[in-house]
Amino acid sequence: MATAVTYNDWRFISDTFDIQDGTKGARSVLEWAYSVYQSEKIVYASSFGAEAIVLIDLIQQIKPDAHIVFLDTGLHFPNTYDVIDQIEKRFPSLQIERKQPALTVDEQAQEYGSALWKREPNQCCNIRKVIPLREALTPREAWISGLRREQSPTRAHTEFLNKDDKFQNIKICPLIHWTWDEVWAHIKEKDLPYNQLHDQGYPSIGCFPCTKAVGVDGDSRAGRWSGNTKTECGLHSM
Ligand code: SF4
Repeated sequence: MATAVTYNDWRFISDTFDIQDGTKGARSVLEWAYSVYQSEKIVYASSFGAEAIVLIDLIQQIKPDAHIVFLDTGLHFPNTYDVIDQIEKRFPSLQIERKQPALTVDEQAQEYGSALWKREPNQCCNIRKVIPLREALTPREAWISGLRREQSPTRAHTEFLNKDDKFQNIKICPLIHWTWDEVWAHIKEKDLPYNQLHDQGYPSIGCFPCTKAVGVDGDSRAGRWSGNTKTECGLHSM
């Protein structure tokens, strides 16, 4: 099991990880990943939502100087930037890159018209998220994501390791078996910083034009692109 899985050398090994390791397999997967991929070949693409805080805590115990990339669309809530600052203070060894798109928000408005997210959200996500992530992943073999099976029907069959045809990479999802309550129990137990918008009814937090509060009992993804058929930013569609 202790060899890297790559896009061109794909094999299914998700059932070899120890889901009785006290973290439902997350630690087992991360220990394997950081032992088989060279550090410049693996990155955690983080939204800095609740799952991200758990993953960062687990990752920094295994790889204190791990690379993390945040897709800085220029349209995030101030609270999101606040929590990144807090994580940098708590775990100063981590290498956190704030990756920006080629166009600023103003340049995008000049080229495509204002509020592209209202008219063509897929195009906006492509410019501000998908292309920057592709650039970040091109020199790498594997990326880590905080997807959980419980989040939505489209994520119900996510494995620890997934062959990612979209980015021709291996997508590693250590938290697939975690519940929302378990995510929060870990954050509280470790007294980790988190985005304060979670306390205001935002379970899933993305760019401010496309995120709204859903209340404390709302579906975890219901506040994203509300009123639009779009449910994913395009990073996790194959
Ligand atoms: Fe644009 Fe909304 Fe996608 Fe952010 S989430 S990149 S604002 S469409």
